[in-house]
Amino acid sequence: MTTPKSTPTGQSQGKNLESMRKFAEKYASRTDTYFCSNLAVTAAVIKGLAQHKEELGSPLCPCRHYEDKAAEVKKAYWNCPCVPMREEKKCHCMLFLTPDNAFAGDTQEITTEQINELCQQM
Ligand code: SF4
Repeated sequence: MTTPKSTPTGQSQGKNLESMRKFAEKYASRTDTYFCSNLAVTAAVIKGLAQHKEELGSPLCPCRHYEDKAAEVKKAYWNCPCVPMREEKKCHCMLFLTPDNAFAGDTQEITTEQINELCQQM
């Protein structure tokens, strides 16, 4: 019996989640942005990015609808950090918020346990 190549393993899912979690922490620190005061938002976005990395090989923004995800990945505009974030610090997913944003919290850190726990509650 063979396993289809596209079936994600728990191990690689965990690896992608960890890499996106670390990316989010580092990028927030580098850009002086903060996670949302409701960390469930942060958790859901990081999980969505990790899922896209698993499925598509790139962390395509999880907060948008795409007709063709593979084509969007090639265009790279919405690969996280997307062009609006890189150029204007605009993250419509509310993963990276500038300190003046009313929804900005005071942390640039989130643990894997928090992500899993918060996503389970949804
Ligand atoms: S809006 Fe841009 S920076 Fe924010 S999660 Fe989506 S791709 Fe990343």
